[in-house]
Amino acid sequence: MLRDQLARPLRDLRISVTDRCNLRCTYCMPADVFGADYAFLPRAELLTFEEIERLARVFVDLGVSKLRITGGEPTLRRGLPELIGRLSALSGVEDVALTTNGLLLPRMAGELKAAGLHRVTVSIDSLDPDVFGRMNGLGTHPQKVMDGIEAALQAGLGVKINTVVQRGVNEDGLRNLWLALRDKAVVRFIEFMDVGNHNGWNLDSVVPSQEVLARLSADGTGAEFRPVNPNYQGEVAARHVGAQGHEVGLISSVSAPFCGDCSRARLSAVGVLYTCLFAGSGIDLRAPLRAGATDAQMNAVVSGVWAARRDRYSEERGEATPERAAKVEMSHIGG
Ligand code: SAM
Ligand code: SF4
Ligand code: SF4
Repeated sequence: MLRDQLARPLRDLRISVTDRCNLRCTYCMPADVFGADYAFLPRAELLTFEEIERLARVFVDLGVSKLRITGGEPTLRRGLPELIGRLSALSGVEDVALTTNGLLLPRMAGELKAAGLHRVTVSIDSLDPDVFGRMNGLGTHPQKVMDGIEAALQAGLGVKINTVVQRGVNEDGLRNLWLALRDKAVVRFIEFMDVGNHNGWNLDSVVPSQEVLARLSADGTGAEFRPVNPNYQGEVAARHVGAQGHEVGLISSVSAPFCGDCSRARLSAVGVLYTCLFAGSGIDLRAPLRAGATDAQMNAVVSGVWAARRDRYSEERGEATPERAAKVEMSHIGG
């Protein structure tokens, strides 16, 4: 089996299908940077569905069984259900998931499910309209996302929730959000990360997951939660169960990094392969593909990249490391 330099297999592929978004979350695509004159990718630059399908097959042949479609906001990519249909039909693919801000799910959830989508992860950071409006950069009301979550549940999709936690921004509303959503879906709280180059991250803006647990519990201590085993090796969220049996996930990229188990590769919308969320550069797969490379040649390129991989950015964050080049933007590889 293909393994990288730290003996990690290649199991998951995250595919970004657009760099555009209908929100401007301050921690991801701040409106002052991603404004009206921002140069988004022209359509001809994007991988076509045929190209994505072909690359996905190469990755599946190398051990990938889980695919996640992301963005930017993936539901903005025209014809998305067709792509889901192609990917879910690939032999060897066990799981096709989508990460979305949920805004377009009321009109798309049924079609996505029918096309073969298994699960969605919907991102929502607060149920307080002022807080959520500020965080999403456009004043969009949280009810719009809640409608998307309902639509996904109605369509029979598996649903999880992603909530990014930022100090001084949304930590006061975490318990409210959890109480409103915990009967519908597993909520995963994500420590604010230093992805991209524009979100003004610093360590003080991170709320450690242990504090999140304390804030979720009725007595403010977190003692009601007990850890439970991961569903599978390499699961990013540490699972906990509360007093009434509700599951919560903690994604502690800063306070408890999980690089040792990281089996994820990321493909940007233009076909650049990144082996880490925090990478400064990646390998262009579109050029050889468009130059007529065979499947065997593409397989050799990808396996060579994975075999050489040594990324462990989150584990090195606290260490003195050489100055790094600018990182890839989150809107290009989608988390
Ligand atoms: N637009 C979709 C969405 O928001 O779900 C998919 C792409 S988004 C980049 C993927 C996930 O990354 C979202 O759950 C988002 O909250 C998370 N994310 C973005 N920037 C982040 C940051 N700086 N720290 C932690 N999580 C972040
Ligand atoms: Fe858009 Fe998702 Fe980034 Fe928010 S987190 S700006 S919804 S891509
Ligand atoms: Fe994987 Fe990089 Fe995140 Fe570590 S920092 S878990 S190697 S994506």
